[in-house]
Amino acid sequence: MIILRNIKIPYDKDQKFLREKIEKEINKKDFNFKIHKKSFDARKGLNFVYQVVIDLELDDIEMKIQKRLKNNLAAFEEEKLEVENKNKIESAVIVGTGPAGLFAAYLLAKKGVKVTLIERGKAVDERVEDIDQLHKTGVLNEESNVQFGEGGAGTFSDGKLTSRSKDKRMGHIFDIFVDHGAPEDILYEQKPHIGTDILRDVIKNMRKEIESLGGVYHFSEKFLDFELDDGKISKIITDKGKYQADAYILALGNSARDTFRTLDKYDLLESKPFAVGFRIEHLRRDIELAQFGMTSDKLPAATYQLNVTDKDFDHSVYTFCMCPGGYVVNSSSIEGQLCVNGMSYHDRDGKNSNSAVVASIDEKIYGQGNLAGMDFQNKIEKKAFDLGGGKAPVQRLRDFIDGRVTEKLGEVSPTFIPGYVFADLNQIYPESINRAIKNALKVMDKRVKGFASDDAILTGVETRTSAPIRIKRSDYRTEKFQNLYPIGEGAGYSGGIISSALDGIKCAIEILEGDKKC
Ligand code: FAD
Repeated sequence: MIILRNIKIPYDKDQKFLREKIEKEINKKDFNFKIHKKSFDARKGLNFVYQVVIDLELDDIEMKIQKRLKNNLAAFEEEKLEVENKNKIESAVIVGTGPAGLFAAYLLAKKGVKVTLIERGKAVDERVEDIDQLHKTGVLNEESNVQFGEGGAGTFSDGKLTSRSKDKRMGHIFDIFVDHGAPEDILYEQKPHIGTDILRDVIKNMRKEIESLGGVYHFSEKFLDFELDDGKISKIITDKGKYQADAYILALGNSARDTFRTLDKYDLLESKPFAVGFRIEHLRRDIELAQFGMTSDKLPAATYQLNVTDKDFDHSVYTFCMCPGGYVVNSSSIEGQLCVNGMSYHDRDGKNSNSAVVASIDEKIYGQGNLAGMDFQNKIEKKAFDLGGGKAPVQRLRDFIDGRVTEKLGEVSPTFIPGYVFADLNQIYPESINRAIKNALKVMDKRVKGFASDDAILTGVETRTSAPIRIKRSDYRTEKFQNLYPIGEGAGYSGGIISSALDGIKCAIEILEGDKKC
């Protein structure tokens, strides 16, 4: 097989045009090809740029064409994930069924390990009902919500499947997604996206396969503590029983605050910087105009990623988890506290686009101690809840800058349900954070025209951008307990669906093939 790169196609042309262009480039007619990568380039005109894999060999291509295409044509070999259960591991208990736990469990089960998954939240379908109730009535179920339940925090998300990692094993994660119901385009899109609607089915299909391989799920069951024998973990204790296994994986996510308190007593934690801020909403149309100069359903979703570091301010500020055509959702897991995040459906056709605008913070803001960042999150989320009286506190961007409570909305309406109230968001964070965000908004407006428009909407608060702690590990294990594997975002080693899934896969490989210590 060969790979041909850098094939530029105007945004409004179809696959037939792509085939004709490939035929012309390699001067061949009789071949099959599949798209390997597809990206979008708005620098000179609006073009999709393809890499395609063709079922021909280099020798099939005329030498003068090989010379002409020398930078863009090469032999190609598919990556294979070859893993063996060299350590003869028989059983593993996995706490948490988010991407990290799910993908670790999936690979272990595939390799003949008996996996037991402990999940404090409910299975996806029941979880959907609890979240619908939260959206309709504002009543939160503390164990079944946007953070807790089958599939983890990403289940009710935008389902962006992007990651900065260049690890070749990432391709297998996308293959597994597709094998369980995700659309094939995630295999090659530069910014793959699946949406909460499709992601939920993928998660259920993966569960069915894990169960068919002998895996057992325990929903609505919470990991509470360890049972120790001679300084080693001999069992884990849940609110419903005890479990023994060769390996124990903790894939807790960044919201398991009660569990972090338990782990702290074993000296397994250290504090880690994270970021806090607000969700910002614009009209989707305005972001498309700013990014492409036009709107068209043939163009990809218009996104941005902005970063401002200014030495005159104490915090760098960046946008995060951008959801084109998405909605702002209540992502709290604690009664009397509020935090928000963004989600979207596969079609991304909502009226607004949103993202988090967050400022990096460290112990200068939240103080010293392993759990100081987490305590700060709790304090901020309580303030936000109180400021909104249980609803989301919302402010027009101009009013945030001027420090007055909004009286009337402009062009942009908040998407948060079940409701919002106007409030002055300046009251939530320490002044240095507000100042840094205000300054950054102005700079960001220069990069995406209209970003700091008066009518943009800010909703409070975005606090769970990543874990405020790290569970110390080396070779995926804790030093203290060699059969304990903390992974994913809650352990502080990933951020996002794909990097968490990858951490899960790598941990499973370590358990199966690494130096056997458990
Ligand atoms: P989690 O997904 O948080 O899973 C942890 C699991 O552990 C949870 O199911 C929890 O119930 C369970 N658990 C915790 N404590 C216990 C216990 N004591 N006992 C039993 N079970 C326990 N990322 C992206 O890449 N793209 C996006 O579009 C995106 N959008 C998001 C939108 C929202 C609304 C949210 C909240 C997050 C979004 N993220 C997104 C972030 C992404 O979801 C997380 O990075 C990812 O889910 C982390 O994976 P994880 O497996 O490490 O943890």
